[in-house]
Amino acid sequence: MKKMTCNELGGACDLEFSGNTFDEIAEQSKSHGSDMFKNGDPAHLEAMHKMRELMHTEGGLEKWMKEKKELFEAKPEL
Ligand SMILES: [Zn+2]
Repeated sequence: MKKMTCNELGGACDLEFSGNTFDEIAEQSKSHGSDMFKNGDPAHLEAMHKMRELMHTEGGLEKWMKEKKELFEAKPEL
């Protein structure tokens, strides 16, 4: 089991997600992100805007995913 925060995943708060795989954590981050989007939280909207720009950049999203997975791999096992 490993933990990553919303901030570490390109979000905008210190909420922690935990899971055994990166995909599990990414899933929680995604659902948290859509909750924040529904609430109209400005900091998360800004973070999402940056993510959208990344998706429109050639290879941007792949690079981002690779970095986040490496960060996940580097986390201590809890
Ligand atoms: Zn957050």
